[in-house]
Amino acid sequence: MSAKIKNNILETIGHTPMIRLNSVAQGIQATVLAKVETFNPGHSIKDRMAVKMIDDAEASGKLLPGGTIIECTSGNTGMGIALAAAVKGYKCIFTTSDKQSKEKIDMLKAVGAEVIVCPTNVEPDDPRSYYSVAEKLSKEIPNSVWLNQYDNLSNRQAHYESTGPEIWNQTDGKITHFVVGVGTGGTVSGVARYLKEKNPAVQVWGIDTYGSVFKKYHETGIFDRKEIYPYITEGIGEDILPKNVDFSLIDHFEKVTDKDAALAARRLAREEGLLLGYSAGSALAGLLQMKDKLKKDDVVVILFHDHGSRYVGKLYNDDWMRERGFLESELRVRDLILSKRDRKFISVQDSESVKNVLKLMKDLDISQLPVLSGEEIKGSVTESTILEFILNNPLQNSEKKVSEIMAAPFPVVNPELPVRDLNKYISKNTPAVIAKDLSGDLIVLTQYDIIQAL
Ligand code: PMP
Repeated sequence: MSAKIKNNILETIGHTPMIRLNSVAQGIQATVLAKVETFNPGHSIKDRMAVKMIDDAEASGKLLPGGTIIECTSGNTGMGIALAAAVKGYKCIFTTSDKQSKEKIDMLKAVGAEVIVCPTNVEPDDPRSYYSVAEKLSKEIPNSVWLNQYDNLSNRQAHYESTGPEIWNQTDGKITHFVVGVGTGGTVSGVARYLKEKNPAVQVWGIDTYGSVFKKYHETGIFDRKEIYPYITEGIGEDILPKNVDFSLIDHFEKVTDKDAALAARRLAREEGLLLGYSAGSALAGLLQMKDKLKKDDVVVILFHDHGSRYVGKLYNDDWMRERGFLESELRVRDLILSKRDRKFISVQDSESVKNVLKLMKDLDISQLPVLSGEEIKGSVTESTILEFILNNPLQNSEKKVSEIMAAPFPVVNPELPVRDLNKYISKNTPAVIAKDLSGDLIVLTQYDIIQAL
């Protein structure tokens, strides 16, 4: 068979491209190159170490034919393991934490794995933690092996054998700085060891997140529990010290906030056409924080771990970003229109009786209505105007036309108006405004709609 044919999907792992960063690297004097690991078949770098851990478990006799592979994984390692398990005929059970994207969990199930979701906010040694559940299952299930990517040194060895040499060769040995997010530590330690063996002057910057122990431990030798708190960034930072992190190979740790990481990942997508995961944003934001340390002739390689498809419901979703206060862009009337579920424009004609209008409001459970004459907006009624009228007038008067009791029309506002400026229009007496949606249809926006959107 031709050498051009791959014998199975595992042979497509590695040899990922190195791509120059242009727009996002403006303001950095050095050359900035990205090692884009989304080109692996499982769409992340973790395919590399997954196969290595399995190969080594087979070689040592820990994993036998027909066996079950158990692993705690935020998704990417699981995907790599599942691909290898499919090709090699193993069963997979993964434990993951409840903060992971639903997309990641669903994808693991799609490739045949069983997934057990465990709580995030428990101590690692708590029996409910995803580490403890994996360990317990591996003791209970016969012919099973817990690969344990945190402490299994085949993880970093995979990067010493493949990722490191690729980066060295792709830069013709010119790399001066390596920047990468640190989770299990496999990527940073394996690549750093290879690069520093080739040229001890290569600087390695590990990217950490707020809520993780790495940076403080690296700088002080203290494992400080006070550094640990929940964070949103996925894939990097830890509340443990995995054996795969070789702190002696990392020259500096840089912490990045959840917000800065998300915004940087969005820039990579929009300015470079690179749709990547959360930790790619952390790596870029960390590099930008460190940019003054770089000189013109430096060659920086920044590694991007995984693909953005796993985060479309999160950092690539404007509502998700806004709910966390991550989007600086102002909420506008057009956003209110988009977030309103029922956009039907309900109105009454000015010839309608007060009685019928009241019935309509009750039936549709609405508290205010525009009043039209033909197509033209002439006025408005609210349930309080109607109630006041009915309480002050004999019942037969409810046959009166609504035009006799209506108030001024609701103000018509521009869809580009910032929502905070609606306070100029909305008041106790004017509980709604009218705007036009993209197709030119009218829509009523009430106080309730504004509260819902905020
Ligand atoms: N980013 C993502 C998205 C990851 O899944 C991981 C793996 N935890 C990392 C970064 C960190 O890589 P490593 O575990 O090799 O340190």
